[in-house]
Amino acid sequence: MSCVSDSSRLNKFLRERYLNLPQGDYCQVTYVWIAYCGVDLSYKTRTMDSEPKTIADIPEWDISGQTESTSTEMLLIPVCMFKDPFLLHPNKLVLCEVLKHTREPAVYFLESNHRNSCNKIMEKVKELHPWFGMEQEYTLLGVDGHPFGWPTHGLPKPQGQYYRCVGADRAFGRDIMECHYKACLYAGIKISGTNPEVMPSQWEYQVGPCEGIEMGDHLWMARFLLHRVCEDFGVVATLDPKPMTGDWNGAGCHINVSTVQMRAEGGIEHIEKAIEKLKKRHTEHIRVYDPNGGEDNKRRLTGSELSPSIHDFSAGVANRMVSIRIPCRVAQNKCGYFEDRRPAANCDPYVVTCAMARTCMLEEEEELK
Ligand code: ADP
Ligand code: MN
Ligand code: MN
Ligand code: MN
Repeated sequence: MSCVSDSSRLNKFLRERYLNLPQGDYCQVTYVWIAYCGVDLSYKTRTMDSEPKTIADIPEWDISGQTESTSTEMLLIPVCMFKDPFLLHPNKLVLCEVLKHTREPAVYFLESNHRNSCNKIMEKVKELHPWFGMEQEYTLLGVDGHPFGWPTHGLPKPQGQYYRCVGADRAFGRDIMECHYKACLYAGIKISGTNPEVMPSQWEYQVGPCEGIEMGDHLWMARFLLHRVCEDFGVVATLDPKPMTGDWNGAGCHINVSTVQMRAEGGIEHIEKAIEKLKKRHTEHIRVYDPNGGEDNKRRLTGSELSPSIHDFSAGVANRMVSIRIPCRVAQNKCGYFEDRRPAANCDPYVVTCAMARTCMLEEEEELK
């Protein structure tokens, strides 16, 4: 038996009564931002007199400094607006960048505003129309930190029956996945699919293809919705890349990448060029594929039968035990996209897409000019 929160057992019928009250022309706007070390999400909500129609209608806001110094004020700059699937129409969720009062990107212990620098690179490569798709894996836990649905003592049956499974003895926490999917669709997040994963109570959803900076915006907001949906059900979603030690799969965040050249006839040539460049920068990429400089991913990319080693770079067609995979459909069509399987589940998508664009696209862009 897993432990669910007390809040999730409050009377939800009563809650509906209040949520259904008319709110006149007023609009609740929830500002969401990436806080401590670029890992945690924070939010606060305010009332606007009318429904904002575009992001430009939403005013900047401020927050007092959180960790570095409580006396510093930071600015919240709205960058991307979504419909609010919890408070419903006309209420909004707004993803924000955090700037210092000097309007420089905010820095706490580590830099947390990676969107700012990512956006600059995306601007430089925009003629290539870079598309990204990310596969967010996550693991459900009870509020006591024990994997959701796992026996209190002992372990579930070994891996092998859970991947893309159905049935009460193998799908743990499907409600979360289904409700999160609907919430993302309602919000306007470009969620493209979902599936149960290899480890019991592990799931995945995919976001994309998104162009440029949109990838980070949509994945971060999808994470916010995931944590919020989990809260309703009284469980926790962890993005730890290796939540259970031993013969249990880790959790990644594969990134699929293409440019206009790769998607065009004969684009495989450009895919191969990109893979050559990635090979030369394996260590640099590993360093930014989790928020702890590769330390988190070390626990996941072990070089066992479950995953390739963090130290080796490899690429292959239709092979899932490699760093970079070319899907077989892409090899057949000689164009499309490639997949980098190295990013950890807790990576910052702004950092990962930025590294991808820098390594694979910057020079190509120069060539185009
Ligand atoms: P896998 O077989 O690795 O599990 P998934 O189906 O989970 O693949 O995810 C594939 C991802 O690739 C999706 O996020 C999708 O949006 C993305 N994708 C599809 N086509 C492209 C493309 N041309 N460029 C970039 N990403 C793409
Ligand atoms: Mn997948
Ligand atoms: Mn997966
Ligand atoms: Mn994948």
